[in-house]
Amino acid sequence: MATGILSDLNEAQCEAVTTAADVVQVLAPPGSGKTKTLTARVAYLLAERRLKPWNIIVCTFTVKAANEMKERITKFVGHECAKQLKLGTFHSVALRYLKQYGQHIGLGKDFGIADSSDSKAIVKRIIKKNDYSIDAGGARGRISTQKAKGIDNEQFSRKAKNVEQQEFARIYQEYEETLKASNLLDYDDLLLRCCLLLRTEPACVSNVEALLIDEYQDTNNIQYDLMGLFAQHRNVITIVGDPDQSIYGFRSAEIKNLTRMKQQWPDTLTINLEENYRSSGAILHAAQHIIEQDESRPPKKLQATHTYGQRPVLRKLPSAAAEADWLVAELKRIQALSGDLLQPNDFAVLLRSAALSRAIETALGREGVPYRMIGGLRFFDRAEVKLLVDYLRVVDAPGNNEAVERIINVPPRRVGEGTVKGLHEEARLKGVSLWSLVLDVVQGRCKPTTKVTPATQTGLAKFVDVILSAQKKLASVAAENHLKRKFPDEYEARWTNVEELLAQTIEASDPQRLIAMVDDGALPSIEGLERRTESVSENALSLFLANVTLATAGAEKTEQDGEKAQQLTISTIHGAKGLEWPVVFIPACYDGSIPHSRADDNDEERRLLYVGMTRAQALLYLSTPLRNSQREEASMSTFLAQPGVASFFEEHGPSIAAADVRALAKTLRRDCPSDDAIAESKKTLERDEDNYWPLTGEEPFEERAKWDHSKSGNAAWSFRDTRPVAVFS
Ligand code: ATP
Ligand code: MG
Repeated sequence: MATGILSDLNEAQCEAVTTAADVVQVLAPPGSGKTKTLTARVAYLLAERRLKPWNIIVCTFTVKAANEMKERITKFVGHECAKQLKLGTFHSVALRYLKQYGQHIGLGKDFGIADSSDSKAIVKRIIKKNDYSIDAGGARGRISTQKAKGIDNEQFSRKAKNVEQQEFARIYQEYEETLKASNLLDYDDLLLRCCLLLRTEPACVSNVEALLIDEYQDTNNIQYDLMGLFAQHRNVITIVGDPDQSIYGFRSAEIKNLTRMKQQWPDTLTINLEENYRSSGAILHAAQHIIEQDESRPPKKLQATHTYGQRPVLRKLPSAAAEADWLVAELKRIQALSGDLLQPNDFAVLLRSAALSRAIETALGREGVPYRMIGGLRFFDRAEVKLLVDYLRVVDAPGNNEAVERIINVPPRRVGEGTVKGLHEEARLKGVSLWSLVLDVVQGRCKPTTKVTPATQTGLAKFVDVILSAQKKLASVAAENHLKRKFPDEYEARWTNVEELLAQTIEASDPQRLIAMVDDGALPSIEGLERRTESVSENALSLFLANVTLATAGAEKTEQDGEKAQQLTISTIHGAKGLEWPVVFIPACYDGSIPHSRADDNDEERRLLYVGMTRAQALLYLSTPLRNSQREEASMSTFLAQPGVASFFEEHGPSIAAADVRALAKTLRRDCPSDDAIAESKKTLERDEDNYWPLTGEEPFEERAKWDHSKSGNAAWSFRDTRPVAVFS
């Protein structure tokens, strides 16, 4: 047996890892070791059953989760073996099959991917052009829902009854035509086309010996189909999941897929795991209480293996700014009390929506606490990076009308919006791409019906020039000059981002390296850009761009250096699925945020809170401002305002004595700092007391932290509120 695959697994986990059953379902609560079991099974199949890594498909939902799984597997079987697994998000695995075998369904290798902003822009334009009354965001979501259900535009069109549905059917149809004309696939298409491919050409997956899926509760119908198709030759499937953590209903995830699987494969072996290895008893107790508010849910056993520990904190603060200040002060306090056992890496701030991060980011920035964001505003969303990516897209595949439209007048080339729209429409009618029409106009092969002034003609010529020459040497020059003009002060910082991206692009010139990057779902930053001057091969660039788009969808920036650097994590709760941290803060727990005002399934919102709470290992903080970011009154989330909930929480952060630090070190399997070191780091708190909690000055509220030596000789912590805020009113 490869070292230690089974050594720290319990009996039920061992059974799931080693069973000879073909189809296995592990349904179990958070922290019970499902992912650990799944990765151990992969290692077991490789080491004991001697399956070849390239014949094993492992799917999960986020890029970050995929990376963590890969890391865990690598520990057992080594990097060389692990990197050959087909492991990634559903979308990235589908992408690989499409790039490799897409020709069987008439797909060239050069297709691009429309990211969510591309898709939305296309829908918006269609709506505007036809003067429809439908909301663009809503229509885009609806297209995605139809696709997720496997209903294409023709099917929808046939069934459309009323005027509203017929209008939507036309948008859907035109959207599909636009994608086709630009040689683009959207995210849903990746999965749909992969299904089509595997149906048309089953031989593509004839070598697949095992399929394993994490977070199965969040699969939708297409992913279910894809699962069957990946495994069509052997039906060897292991899935792990937890119905209580189903949080993607809003994206058509089907919890029914659990029972559907058992109907399709009646011999499915079901294994339950009942021990929680992640969280303290107190955290589990509180989380359990929240999820049990859903009375339709069957009761489940869940046993804590850790001690009861500190009760989670539930706190009200006067404003979002005060909440952020409190959070950062508490973080520093806990770090100091733990004798620096807890470092920024151990803390996560989980948010219902990315838009809530601003106050937290400001407070962290002011206090100099380094942080990384996952599932929020990402590297590839930054304006300067997006611009360069668009240039690269056009260089790579000029048929991408959406990208052409975005950059044709950036930097300004006197090509007005009206002209671009006119040319675009003209191109559409002619059945050619915007780029090829522009090229014809510039090179005198065609006289457009759209009015093109001499100044515009010059501008278009400049654009064509840039792209043609950039096709030889990438698109850095135009972007750099534009950035210099547009952001004179921040130019350097922004250009660093561009360089980082460029470095990655150049790294992508090595196809082997690129495939590894695609597999990793990560695009590492590379130092020493100057030293690397090789040009990028065409195919590598197109794969790279596909992966950029997926990395954006996968919702995160994976920072290569960040792995080592100490940084707090800010994430959406959705993006934190499957992950864990010693200390978790969930701010902005107010009605309208969680449950979200636009969510239509309250039970799903509750499960979301449950997912967030169960990410915490040792300490958990929930809080709400009494005014939201728009300064409107906010009240505590209904999930937390239920009778009885308060008894599971404390108002104040815990006073952590030396004995607590020792217990914490044991739980986290780390060396405990000496008592002297703990005492020393506590002193920094006393010294900083006066400046400890900078207030924004905007609130009449003043809350100062103060040492309270009165308690049992231990320096315990308490807060003196000059205007106390009721916590459980
Ligand atoms: P989630 O539902 O949140 O994804 P999960 O069921 O996948 O949770 P894991 O992430 O696999 O849970 O495990 C949670 C933690 O418990 C991890 O730190 C893991 O290493 C630890 N763990 C799991 N099983 C055991 C075990 N048998 N002994 C010791 N630690 C374990
Ligand atoms: Mg997991």
